[in-house]
Amino acid sequence: MSSRRPQNIETLAVHAGRSIDTATGAVIGPIHLSTTFERDESGGYPSGFSYSRWDNPNRQALERCLAEMEGGTRALAFSSGLAASTAVAQNLRPGDHVIAPDNVYYNFRKVLSALLANLDLKTSYVDMRDAANVESALRPDTRLIWIETPSNPLMKVTDMEAVAQIAKKAKIVTACDSTISTPVLQRPLDWGIDIVVHSTTKAISGHSDVTGGALVMNDACPFFEGAQNFQRLGGAVPSPFDCWLVLRGIATLPLRIRAQSSSALAIAEFLAGHPLVEAVLYPGLATDPGHEIASRQMKLFGGVMSFQVKGAAKEALGVAAATQVFTRATSLGGTHSLIEHRASVESEETRTPANLLRLSIGLENTADLIDDLRQALNQLSA
Ligand code: PLP
Repeated sequence: MSSRRPQNIETLAVHAGRSIDTATGAVIGPIHLSTTFERDESGGYPSGFSYSRWDNPNRQALERCLAEMEGGTRALAFSSGLAASTAVAQNLRPGDHVIAPDNVYYNFRKVLSALLANLDLKTSYVDMRDAANVESALRPDTRLIWIETPSNPLMKVTDMEAVAQIAKKAKIVTACDSTISTPVLQRPLDWGIDIVVHSTTKAISGHSDVTGGALVMNDACPFFEGAQNFQRLGGAVPSPFDCWLVLRGIATLPLRIRAQSSSALAIAEFLAGHPLVEAVLYPGLATDPGHEIASRQMKLFGGVMSFQVKGAAKEALGVAAATQVFTRATSLGGTHSLIEHRASVESEETRTPANLLRLSIGLENTADLIDDLRQALNQLSA
């Protein structure tokens, strides 16, 4: 890291983790596909790399970039967001207690209950919009507090500073899934959180063409070694090309997030005023219960929102079916605006209302997106 480089996020997004290729002068770094690296005569590895699962130049560049963007000292890149989340969770010991949001990303709930079933973890799922609920759920055997803010898809906002303070007093590790926000909008480590979790599949890579995940923490984090073992020994590694793609996407992340946030706010305001919309879940709206905390800890409010149509699953699916610019697909944070009926993709234990649609706002023209939703909602009254 250059100590002289300005630390503004736009400059970090272009320069952090990168350098001009010394062999060729290439401004954009190459993809190193080699799985193995030459030893010197004394058996050492002068480049610092030995074998690609352990470490490789593209992964290192991405990890350095993410660490700088999040204001941490160490980052680990993974083959998916869930691999990154699992790398945190597998630090837990049999019988440990975990506190997580009541609407935590539904597949992470499955990691805790099914994938890691042999750890027999005890879990308390609480409404983290009120940090007091986290404090009340504390037990002597609590070992991890997991936050997701804003949460997917109910867009609940958690006060990171308040939860970090509660956890620090009790000496409990905190992790925050910050996928929806990215470091452009919020930096959990600045609020005292120990581990930032990302699905880089989403806005960080930004083009819906790579699956990845990452963790960022500081040196003192007690879960670093276990997470790194899961990466290097468990082999949950992204390929060099995947790392290159994610790093390429990061260069435009601040611009994309700003454009998506601005469109999303206009769309949320349009939906909030529509007679066939029951509720809009978006912390950018002044009426949203998370607005005050989000305004404190986020720079803008991001490109993801949910809304509930008047009616049930049938009406919501009807609106999604009638869109022409929005694409009916899962995921978020890419160039294409996506619409999804979450309850039908989540498992039977879903906590997502049947009339809810999640939107991920892409980079199309804002008025085109509003017109598309207007004509799709109009089909309901037709
Ligand atoms: N965290 C959140 C908030 C997500 O939305 C997702 C995926 O949708 C994940 C984690 C998992 O990421 P991945 O699909 O890259 O494993």
